[in-house]
Amino acid sequence: MADANDVHIHWMKEAMNMAQEAFDAGEVPVGCVFVRDSKIIARSRNRTNELKNGTRHAELVSIDRILADPNLTPQPCQYPLSETTLYVTVEPCIMCASALRQLGIKEVFYGCSNDRFGGCGGVLSVNSSLGHPRHPAYQATGGYLRDEAIMILRRFYITENSNAPIPKSKANRVLKTEISAWNASQST
Ligand SMILES: [Zn+2]
Repeated sequence: MADANDVHIHWMKEAMNMAQEAFDAGEVPVGCVFVRDSKIIARSRNRTNELKNGTRHAELVSIDRILADPNLTPQPCQYPLSETTLYVTVEPCIMCASALRQLGIKEVFYGCSNDRFGGCGGVLSVNSSLGHPRHPAYQATGGYLRDEAIMILRRFYITENSNAPIPKSKANRVLKTEISAWNASQST
């Protein structure tokens, strides 16, 4: 049987493929896969620019598909993701982290942390230490393909994001390749 770490890296590579698809489409490059019973049941990437909808983060795009598919969600239940694990290239934001908790996600693995909007420890720990009277906590662990997740964000932000609400000139930006001091603060 494969080492657990190898399994996590395997799924995170699939999430990175979705991040690359987002990049190619001119979206902030974040991608994810949802895994149940050792199979990907949904894969998606950020679509906020395409749909002009700031809630269309990769995680919520997949969640919508899972909940709408009668094969994946045969009947309404309180925690439809209780047997499902999320792999996402960037730490889920507070909005997504909360949705995941409300749907009972089993566990989350992510690439780089998000110290501007992160909901799994980056800003708030919506996944665990933030108390909730009903919805169970879930574990979220970062660091899987972290450098790749950071570099694709950097490659994106070095170019002009023409759909950003407040365009900023980034003409003088230089692609940095040193990783340690950087994080995903510009990721969403
Ligand atoms: Zn989000």
